[in-house]
Amino acid sequence: MHSPKPPLKALLLLTSLLSTCTPSPAAAQSCGSTGLAVQVLGSGGPESQDKRASTSYLVWDHGNARVILDAGGGSALRFGESGARMSQPDVFLFSHFHVDHSSDFPALIFSSWFEDRKRPLPVYGPTGNDFMPSTTEFVHELFADPHGAWRYLSELVEPGQGSYQLQPHNVAPSSTPVLIFRNANMAIYAVTVIHGQVPTLAWRIEIGGKRIVFSGDTNGEGEGLTQLASNADLFVAHNAVPEGATGVERRLHMPPSVIGATAANAHVKQLVLSHRMLRTLGKENETQTEIKRRYSGPIQFANDLDCFPIK
Ligand SMILES: [Zn+2]
Repeated sequence: MHSPKPPLKALLLLTSLLSTCTPSPAAAQSCGSTGLAVQVLGSGGPESQDKRASTSYLVWDHGNARVILDAGGGSALRFGESGARMSQPDVFLFSHFHVDHSSDFPALIFSSWFEDRKRPLPVYGPTGNDFMPSTTEFVHELFADPHGAWRYLSELVEPGQGSYQLQPHNVAPSSTPVLIFRNANMAIYAVTVIHGQVPTLAWRIEIGGKRIVFSGDTNGEGEGLTQLASNADLFVAHNAVPEGATGVERRLHMPPSVIGATAANAHVKQLVLSHRMLRTLGKENETQTEIKRRYSGPIQFANDLDCFPIK
């Protein structure tokens, strides 16, 4: 049974109308306004001292932020700075649920209450295990009655209740790329990658005849990521560890040599390095040298809000 509640949305809208200060208009959105582009909302890892937002990306298509991938700490602020609106995404993707990839999700969702989103928002991410919730568990443990942390927003996960619905889906593990989502604008594929014991996905968005691939966090083991990245127009890889990393760092992340080999074997056209951490920041020359031994295409290091057009 759904217990009666005050009309939350009406209260929230009234609160915003009664606010005495008028918010300044969002910055004019420029990334991807006339074509396809990836905007890096968060280029850092989990460390606050890197002075970067944690992982998050937008795929822009002619002025629409069609896809948001991950939502690490600080990304909600960067999302606002990008000029995107929560009414725009067709789909929300998660690589995995480490804090530096997921902690701003509730902030972005609450922001959407103050916008005019009406259509459902599908949310795709990995299945769970003993260490991590599945995507459906993650969303319900945040918002569902009676135990969700922010159950005051439970209308979002109760069909027919709120102004729009979150629709979480678990992506079954697969060592080869699988079609996960398709609409009139794009097709989206995922493959399972190895990130310690954390269920993790890499993602490919096919849009406007182009391929955009995100490695997520992975140590690069297996062939799935190379298959997913095959002929990518843009490949975003995570530069979380330096060459020579060992132990847990290496079990979780791929060093530059593995990034370079993957980019070369997949024949990617453009490589962007993100998820930059204190242990790789300042080592860009060494990183680039290792990658260039294997991959001859263009390499760029990402900073927050950087825009990478897809030509
Ligand atoms: Zn991470």
